[in-house]
Amino acid sequence: MGKDAKKVVELLNAARAGELTAILQYMAQHYELENQDYGKLAKFLKKTAITEMKHAELLADRILFLGGVPTSKPDAEAKKGQSITDMLATDIALEADAIGKYNASAKACAEALDHVSKDIFEKLLGDENGHLDEFQNLKEHADQLGAAWLAQQTGAGE
Ligand code: FE
Ligand code: FE
Repeated sequence: MGKDAKKVVELLNAARAGELTAILQYMAQHYELENQDYGKLAKFLKKTAITEMKHAELLADRILFLGGVPTSKPDAEAKKGQSITDMLATDIALEADAIGKYNASAKACAEALDHVSKDIFEKLLGDENGHLDEFQNLKEHADQLGAAWLAQQTGAGE
């Protein structure tokens, strides 16, 4: 593997480690919220976790194609037992962190003339920007409406 490909594989694996963390975090929140009967919000977390699983897979496929080994280690531990507003703050931080990382990685891939990997980072950026928006909206509602909003999060979800 050339020096540039090695660098790209490192970036793809760093992204994959972050995706694995997000999957564990969102699924942990999914189970906690489901236990607390916030079914709607729980379902949203699961849906988001599934998107992150697809990201982790996309990254692994590219890593394998380049001759690397996809990491199976998340880059952080999932936080447990947080309040709903703290959960959403955690999620906002994860997404914002990914966006910063992926912007830099897309640029580095372009410099390494690996446009396929650059396109992968740009696709992920589109999704993470959407997630950031969704988590920020949820947190705004939770902060502003409090109990009234929480009452709407109960039930089985759509
Ligand atoms: Fe992702
Ligand atoms: Fe995301």
